[in-house]
Amino acid sequence: MSSDKLFEAALQLAGTPWRVVRSDFSGQPPVLEIVLDFARGSQFPCPQCGQLCGVHDTTQKRWRHLSFFQYRCELVTNVPRVWCRQHGAHLIEHLPWAETGSGFTLLFEASIMFLAEEMPVAAIARLVQEEDTRLWRLIARLVEAAQAAANWSQVSAIAIDETSSRHGRCYVSVFLDAQTHRLLYVAEGRTSLAVEQLAQAFSAHGGDHQSIKLVATDMLHCYAKGVREQFPKAQIVYDRYHLMVMAGEAVDEVRRQLQRQGAQLKGALWSLRGNPWNLDAQQQQLLAHLAQEYKPLGRALALRAALQDLYEASDNDGPELLRRWCQWAARSRLAPFRKLAKTFHQYWQGIVTYFQCRITQGAIEAINGIIQLAKRRARGFRNFSYLCTIAYLVAAKLKFSLPSLLPT
Ligand SMILES: [Zn+2]
Repeated sequence: MSSDKLFEAALQLAGTPWRVVRSDFSGQPPVLEIVLDFARGSQFPCPQCGQLCGVHDTTQKRWRHLSFFQYRCELVTNVPRVWCRQHGAHLIEHLPWAETGSGFTLLFEASIMFLAEEMPVAAIARLVQEEDTRLWRLIARLVEAAQAAANWSQVSAIAIDETSSRHGRCYVSVFLDAQTHRLLYVAEGRTSLAVEQLAQAFSAHGGDHQSIKLVATDMLHCYAKGVREQFPKAQIVYDRYHLMVMAGEAVDEVRRQLQRQGAQLKGALWSLRGNPWNLDAQQQQLLAHLAQEYKPLGRALALRAALQDLYEASDNDGPELLRRWCQWAARSRLAPFRKLAKTFHQYWQGIVTYFQCRITQGAIEAINGIIQLAKRRARGFRNFSYLCTIAYLVAAKLKFSLPSLLPT
């Protein structure tokens, strides 16, 4: 078998008008260049109407393909411009191995997407010796197309959380399907405007605003207004995760007050912040000692632990236990916990709804993981669009129309 025939078979060109007419291995470092051409008299579809048309003229294009051993490999051909009686001259869009507008073959694109799910783009760029900005453009284009095709018609519960990007200088809102943990949407900012953008995207993706029954969020930000406007049938749920964060902040506030009064709490910060079951024996001992030594701190820690525990209660008992917890907090002589009890009263309905629909907890925690992962993957490329691209790639469960990297 000649090398041209070999490459023709490997490129799966049988049954197409395309043939390998030449292959060269030259340059320093050497590059394998495979030149393709179509049979004279071939017809191609007009990109506007699909009608088979004759060739008007051609223009040369080049695509990077999967490597040949350790060497770069490129496909080169004269791409036909068809002449359609209705639409005039147009470059054809699809070739068996690539889109005419891309600088990469479909298989090369598939290999980049495969790597991008596992490693940072900067590392892929080094591995395949390609400019990182070129790879970003490719990844963004494919992610955008796959995300645009995503169907949200089955979504009935949404979880919202906010996080910072670029070292806390700008905020993003993250929206997840609370049941499947599929990432739906990432918006800049953390106001009801972000919810409006989600709602617009929701229509575009075949979702029904009326069918959203639950929206999980925290009570600190301005999402609630947007949710009531955009998803009128949704019950807002203030989930356990955010309430525990607030209780942790209240403990911190008690600690700072004690420190201002001269308590020796330096170095105890992490023991006080972490969940008790994550602490080692020494830290637990320190915690018990501090609670003994500083009574207000002991009460704050007990309140936090009780809140954690009551969330394990059954759907029926939960609201009653929470009501008693609020009474305890209100009597605790700890200003931060008294304030917390007031806040809980204010948002009561949304808080107790959690006991009926615990699905939201995992979703809210998943959001955090997604964004941390996206930040690591987009290392060195921290702007909003890079972060979005990677977040969708790793968490939106997208379907790409790319060929399989396995032989068929
Ligand atoms: Zn046409």
